[in-house]
Amino acid sequence: MSQAAIHIAIVGAGPSGCYVADALGRKLPGARIDVFDRLPTPFGLVRGGVAPDHQGTKNIARQFERTLGKKGVRFLGNIAVGRDISYEEIKSAYDVLVITIGALEDRRLGIPGENLDAVYGSGQFVAWYNGIPDSRDLDPVLDGKSVAIIGNGNVALDIARLLGKTPDELAASDLCAHARAAFAAARIEDIWLIGRRGPPEASFTTAELAEFGELSRVAVLVDPAQLPQTLPEGLQEEQRKLAEKNLDVLQGYAARGQQPERPLRLHFVFNAAPIEIRGEHRARELVLEKTRIENGRAIPGGETFTIPADTVICAIGYRSTPFPGLPFDHARGTVAHEQGRVETGVYASGWCKRGPQGVVPANRADSLAVAELILADLAIHPPSGKPGGTVIDALLAGRGARPVDFAGWQKINAAEVAAGQGRQREKLTRIGELLAAAQN
Ligand SMILES: Cc1cc2nc3c(=O)[nH]c(=O)nc-3n(C[C@H](O)[C@H](O)[C@H](O)COP(=O)(O)OP(=O)(O)OC[C@H]3O[C@@H](n4cnc5c(N)ncnc54)[C@H](O)[C@@H]3O)c2cc1C
Repeated sequence: MSQAAIHIAIVGAGPSGCYVADALGRKLPGARIDVFDRLPTPFGLVRGGVAPDHQGTKNIARQFERTLGKKGVRFLGNIAVGRDISYEEIKSAYDVLVITIGALEDRRLGIPGENLDAVYGSGQFVAWYNGIPDSRDLDPVLDGKSVAIIGNGNVALDIARLLGKTPDELAASDLCAHARAAFAAARIEDIWLIGRRGPPEASFTTAELAEFGELSRVAVLVDPAQLPQTLPEGLQEEQRKLAEKNLDVLQGYAARGQQPERPLRLHFVFNAAPIEIRGEHRARELVLEKTRIENGRAIPGGETFTIPADTVICAIGYRSTPFPGLPFDHARGTVAHEQGRVETGVYASGWCKRGPQGVVPANRADSLAVAELILADLAIHPPSGKPGGTVIDALLAGRGARPVDFAGWQKINAAEVAAGQGRQREKLTRIGELLAAAQN
């Protein structure tokens, strides 16, 4: 098998795509690896999801940057499969195609009032504050005193924390200028964090939960009656350990009491399922139904109550967005695959394969496993001499597409860092600005 002849395309330059590129680059020296992304910028949710005040987590982008800059690897940003190039075209051009498109679409609550103004999915809200061009003009309504965030994962905590921080506490972040201005203008007094299940079932991690204790203007309100004395039977070992640590932190908050001198209250509300968002044209209140837990599931108990909610943000998970021709499992909201194999020569890895779960490094093992699978398949079916990127370059040029290459990304990066003027960076948030910086 002549390794130089292998042409590999990876669709999605997020963590999973970068891990796959790295693994295949090492195992198949001489392979030509093209990494496509719909955005002019790489790194997926590391740039567009991870909270802007968690710069330590974002540092992993340096490792991905090294991968994309390696010999034999090309970055083709601003190229979306399904828009600029079809699945069939890309599949027929490369020996190996790996789909790593993540999961970008918000899951919906499916309750009345979800379409009112001032109701957002966490995906769009997070993309807005992180400067992803599609959501740049979301301009979320943050004019009221009360914000309800639905979900008990780290994304819900991220949003609550960013809304709770003072401008000074956000100074070291790369929160975009438009979001800084909107947060500074907001006059929020109450943030409600709503979980359908109880503290033992919550999926947020302890470090993120403990961070609220450090915020200067936030009083964290936890009703001790909502904290169980013992953990339920049947929790998996890992969940049990997490629940114990989280309960410790929540008990600490409960012991602090009201802290009336603090202007912003963060209320943890457990065992409450959203059943309706009410308001005229826009959200004003959220109706919740109390639940009890049976076999890990939240069972509605019939008793309802209402909280004020001038803005509602739903952080209840994501689905992948398929492009025409891509085998897709609509029930799960993921690419259809069998252990990473989508169809002959096509593979999937990361959130679009497993669903939207797991931190950045969790995608590494997945991508390494897919790389091994690809190697095993190549050993049985050696590449048949497909043309690779040259044919795609010609198609893109004919369509007037404007790919951003690795050097273009480096120019964008330099422009953003320079615009930061002491902050980490000031992101460029519009496609036109990004393309202009890439060509500068
Ligand atoms: C709000 C939020 C906060 C998070 N915070 C943390 C954290 O603090 N720490 C942590 O470890 N993990 C965090 N995670 C999880 C982490 O971001 C994921 O584990 C990881 O990003 C998944 O990687 P991926 O490559 O599978 O998907 P993604 O990161 O989503 O990358 C997918 C890429 O595919 C591209 N793409 C999509 N469709 C197309 C198309 N049609 N054509 C071309 N390109 C396409 C996208 O633009 C994107 O760049 C967070 C996730 C979210 C949602």
